[in-house]
Amino acid sequence: MAEAIELMPIGLTPPTRRPRPPRHLADLDHVARRAAVADLGQPAFRADQLSRHYFGRLTDDPADMTDLPSDVRAALAAELLPPLLTSQRELQCDGGTTRKTLWRAFDGALVESVLMRYPDRVTMCVSSQAGCGMACPFCATGQAGLTRNLSAAEIVTQVFAGARAMASGAVPGGAGRVSNVVFMGMGEPLANYSSVLTAVRRITAPPPDGLGISQRSVTVSTVGLVPAINKLAGEGLSVRLAVSLHAPDDELRNDLVPVNRRWQVAEVLDAAWGYAAASGRRVSVEYAMIRDINDQAWRADMLASLLAGRLAHVNLIPLNPTPGSKWTASDPAVAQEFLDRLAFRGIPVTVRDTRGDKIDGACGQLAAAPLAG
Ligand code: SAH
Repeated sequence: MAEAIELMPIGLTPPTRRPRPPRHLADLDHVARRAAVADLGQPAFRADQLSRHYFGRLTDDPADMTDLPSDVRAALAAELLPPLLTSQRELQCDGGTTRKTLWRAFDGALVESVLMRYPDRVTMCVSSQAGCGMACPFCATGQAGLTRNLSAAEIVTQVFAGARAMASGAVPGGAGRVSNVVFMGMGEPLANYSSVLTAVRRITAPPPDGLGISQRSVTVSTVGLVPAINKLAGEGLSVRLAVSLHAPDDELRNDLVPVNRRWQVAEVLDAAWGYAAASGRRVSVEYAMIRDINDQAWRADMLASLLAGRLAHVNLIPLNPTPGSKWTASDPAVAQEFLDRLAFRGIPVTVRDTRGDKIDGACGQLAAAPLAG
């Protein structure tokens, strides 16, 4: 064991043996679903029926599955549609069009997801891990460390819940669909690569194989795990990549995004351009504006130089407050100057809204504090 620990790459803790989340339909591709159903002694086409109910009609209730014999329904649902996440608490703001859900997994792990309805789109922000191991000092999720990776189905379930809320008309504005998914909740998606990839495939496959959300409307956000970005570039996907840069220089980025000590700015951006070339998608460069830390004019100019002529777009995020952090959002005039400098150099730049900040549901505020009492 001691030897195994010594062989672990720096920064990774040795795997602990813990029970895995139950297997779920959403973990399985078409072929595996049919095999799973056959293993349960049922004809393979029952897998397709089950998939149509789950992904097409957004139901996991056996009572709704009237095209299946009643005893078969219960058995298949018990085996392939086990409840994975239980809602513990839902907070709303913006007249009910922003909703944060705290979920409890089978082992007590807590994660959060946020639904945001805009006039032209509905975005689900999902968690890919319970907690996060990246330890960025300005992010609430980073403070408590990593609990565990989520399974693919635990990720898909968060989107499923949003899709169902939208379909049922529970969200003000009338019945609708989830149009976008962003992996910007808790966790570092590329540190849970295979589950995230499976989840992306399931979220984007047309029903009855998946939820039918366009790949172009899915964003995977990363601190910059270079080997995983390179791998993602080889998957033939057209999802958008977001890179949480937050500083153009290694000296500051080493502090803001500690994994920068492993993969530095130049290397991260090279990988991002590789992804842009492979996917044809503009990379979104995320930059939280932190007062007097990373918002200087010279850093705007340095960022512009790094991005000039690249398939990139900068998303400035006013820093959202997190408990115990000494940092605060940039002065609006300073943030405007930063934006103007990028725009002047021809870099496409927008400012992210701070939706959900009143319910601690905005970027970097997800901490999944358990219910008091
Ligand atoms: N681990 C991934 C996915 C999380 S995305 C990543 O870092 O990209 C969450 C986004 O919100 C990231 O861009 C993150 O850097 C940013 N963020 C974290 N804390 C924040 C805060 N307090 N205010 C504003 N943005 C924050």
